[in-house]
Amino acid sequence: MLTTAESVLFDKDAKTLWKECLSLIKNNVPFITYNTWFLPIKPFEVENNTLKIYVPNNFFIEWIEEHYNTLINRTVTQVLGPEAKLVYVIYDEKEPVEEPAIKQLVVPITSSVQETKPRDFETYLNPRHTFENFIKGEGNQLARAAAFAVGDNPGQTSFNPLFVYGGVGLGKTHLIHAIGNRILEQGKNKRVVYISSDAFTVEFVEAIQNDTVNEFSSFYKSMDALIIDDIQFLIGKEKTQDLFFQIFNTLHQSGRQVILSSDKAPKDLKGLNERLISRFSWGLSADIQPPDFETRVAILKNKSESYGIILSREILEYIAQNITSNIRELEGCLIKLLANSSLNSKEIDFELVKKTVREVSTNKQVNVSIDLITTVVCSHFSIEENKLREKNRRKEVVFARQVAMYLSKTLTKSSLKTIGLHFGGRDHSTVIHSQTSIEQLVQSDTKVKDMIDALRNKIEMSAS
Ligand code: ADP
Ligand code: MG
Repeated sequence: MLTTAESVLFDKDAKTLWKECLSLIKNNVPFITYNTWFLPIKPFEVENNTLKIYVPNNFFIEWIEEHYNTLINRTVTQVLGPEAKLVYVIYDEKEPVEEPAIKQLVVPITSSVQETKPRDFETYLNPRHTFENFIKGEGNQLARAAAFAVGDNPGQTSFNPLFVYGGVGLGKTHLIHAIGNRILEQGKNKRVVYISSDAFTVEFVEAIQNDTVNEFSSFYKSMDALIIDDIQFLIGKEKTQDLFFQIFNTLHQSGRQVILSSDKAPKDLKGLNERLISRFSWGLSADIQPPDFETRVAILKNKSESYGIILSREILEYIAQNITSNIRELEGCLIKLLANSSLNSKEIDFELVKKTVREVSTNKQVNVSIDLITTVVCSHFSIEENKLREKNRRKEVVFARQVAMYLSKTLTKSSLKTIGLHFGGRDHSTVIHSQTSIEQLVQSDTKVKDMIDALRNKIEMSAS
């Protein structure tokens, strides 16, 4: 972390730009990866189209480049424009404040890294989620086998729709991306798109506002395979469900593939339209159960090797014994371990492993929705929920709205756009503004900090 004096050195524009980059990055990487690898980066300055950022050490550069090169490229060009360049500067915390130590300049990025797109739309498939790196285990056997079949023969099996369900962090998203990637591998011109049901809703609301519902619906009806993640978020959204029902029917009738995921089995999706639930049972519902011990060890081994580290059997087993809930946490623990060892230049020994496991297990993540945040915040301030969506500028309402936006940004993976839309169609800069104002208050005012902590606890306790 940099001291306040140091951060004064930083150009304000670079700060703002980097903040924008961060909020985009945050939506695209696991929470712990974000905290470990992206948060420690500080903006340095911006000159013409070049954004210079401080990173703690060389290892950071290598790691980010290896794992998130495309993402960071895309993000920087999105925020700064197509000519953008990014330069990493390594900082050394022990150097005097007045002279930030520039030990090394690395210029890795040009916009040429961007892939050429064979189609006129974005598939939103993450190329890193493949079958090859999806480890088989007892808990995911059926889902994985069905996914394979669908990936090889979309629309041609009786698994239509394929409905994958299970708890948080068990691999649903990974698996349905893998199907999409597989379909594209087999047929480059296949039309495949991935979208979360939340984003689908947001796009639909926008389409209504812009009077483009027809285009919206024909786009999805034109797919060979439509992949919708976390379908449980359609609950309570009647109009979106109606439209989805139509799209579903069109695709299904013409032998095209629908792939869905959810946190619950179709029959347990209380509040979802019955006719959708009955459609879901036309195909195959396959659940994913938490991984057993052997699978956890196998996943850890595979992931650590992909990060370029070899851990002893003893260490792998220790982690697998102590982190049992889900795969996202296993992964989080490895990343944190790597970060702890690289930041403190320490070997990965048993002590570091124990310390890291302790840290990770006291830092559990839960599934939080913007609606839940809104409810908790409004009840705390005794404000009606619709006030947050209106143009109401009463001081208490403005503050509550900012708090709700801030919590939505920190506790969910929703994009700025999604959050803005939840709060009466405000635009993304308003969300960023709320986020920074509350962040500043949290730092300067312990009362606000305590309140935010209490709200966060309450939200996390009420979630999943
Ligand atoms: P969910 O969507 O069920 O909450 P994700 O698909 O996001 O879970 O999985 C969480 C993390 O765990 C992802 O990084 C994913 O790549 C990884 N993961 C999940 N299942 C497996 C598996 N069987 N093998 C390897 N990695 C997995
Ligand atoms: Mg998921």
